[in-house]
Amino acid sequence: MNQDIFRISIVLSVALLVGYLSDHMALTLFAGYLAYAYWESVLLSRLLKWMRRKRIANAPEAEGLVGAIAMQYEDLRDHHRKQKRRLASYLKRFKEATQALPDAIVVLGLNDEIEWANSKSGDYLGIRYPQDRGQRLINLFRHPALVSFMKEARGKNPGIEKSLELVSPNNQDMHLELRLISYGDSGKLLVARNVTTIFRISRMRTDFIANASHELRTPLTVISGYLESFEDDFTEEKDKQMRSKIRQMRVQAERMRRLIEDLLKLSTLETTESQSVREPVRIPDLLRSIVVEARAISGILKHDFQLELDEGLWIEGDRNQIYSAISNVIFNAVQHTAEHGCITLRWFNDSNGATLEVIDTGEGISAEHIPRLTERFYRVDRGRSREKGGTGLGLAIVKHILSRHQARLEIESTPGVGSTFRFCFPNALILHKGLIEARSLS
Ligand code: ADP
Repeated sequence: MNQDIFRISIVLSVALLVGYLSDHMALTLFAGYLAYAYWESVLLSRLLKWMRRKRIANAPEAEGLVGAIAMQYEDLRDHHRKQKRRLASYLKRFKEATQALPDAIVVLGLNDEIEWANSKSGDYLGIRYPQDRGQRLINLFRHPALVSFMKEARGKNPGIEKSLELVSPNNQDMHLELRLISYGDSGKLLVARNVTTIFRISRMRTDFIANASHELRTPLTVISGYLESFEDDFTEEKDKQMRSKIRQMRVQAERMRRLIEDLLKLSTLETTESQSVREPVRIPDLLRSIVVEARAISGILKHDFQLELDEGLWIEGDRNQIYSAISNVIFNAVQHTAEHGCITLRWFNDSNGATLEVIDTGEGISAEHIPRLTERFYRVDRGRSREKGGTGLGLAIVKHILSRHQARLEIESTPGVGSTFRFCFPNALILHKGLIEARSLS
């Protein structure tokens, strides 16, 4: 800056002197100004040329303001170049790390279009990157479960994680677990993990239970049959003791049969495709027929059954499975409610969807047991459950059946007061009696 003032002062002084000597002050001052402006524009255009150059070259020789701009620009350029190099190395390391990951990772845009994918995405999902960039995931794989999984994930809060198990579209022998992770305002990350080994082990476990149960069923039927005929053989008074022993054996054989039946039911629920049967289920009629059976089980305990039913509310699902789930909970209420206790069944439609409540005034369950009730063989009082003929698998079966109907099980209980078992079926499964009847008439 100082140099510029010094230089312009010299030019002006020379112009003034020449003007004074030649008696053309204005002209020489104007000429001096022009010469200075020309020189500055030459320096500026050299600077501009240098700045526009892609290749790295030394800054043009210049002093004063133009020189200072050139130096500042050179510093900025060096800084920028270093930063670019650092970012490129980070990016390279990030790419190497994601390629080395054992999982497939796909970055999805606002409309679930592929923005980026690592190499495992090719092996697991058949995504070719970068060729498939911009393609929507559901256009690439027309798998119904994946389509509804992606649709469900839309509009959910960022950070919510969802998962889905799927056979790889690229390899029928590979089982994948897909996770959709939302981040930022609209970003989504699809992570696919190869769970083939876990899937095979769990399949082996359920197959083993199913096979063992099948194998046990036939000999048990034979044993039960013989025990029954033996009992009939000992009718004399002196055979009383023997008859009692045979009866005990029959009771235990019956318990084993129920256990085997429940194990088979569970393994069928686990191994078959979800929700294979969809038919209209008239829940009010179903409840009334279960109550007839429950009254028979209640017997001398004479429970009071109260029914509050929305007669027009039906649902779509597997009738046998729904029957099994509801009867399980109602029979449990009978088992755990004292003489003359009240069992109320409420069937209604509210903001939760179609809701069934089985409310008893029985012994209740303490809070610490409630989260574990749907575990296999979990019983609050093992001895009493056995005594009453329970297998400890009932609520595990109920949970499976409900999840196959996208329904929820809620349990509320107060020891000494009673329990409420609530099934919440989603709106999507609701059918209205009037509409069904009108449809079948037309
Ligand atoms: P179980 O064959 O033993 O009935 P479940 O899985 O059906 O097995 O139930 C698990 C346990 O939950 C039962 O052993 C019992 O302790 C408890 N339970 C279930 N329903 C009720 C109820 N209505 N009142 C009190 N306890 C209950």
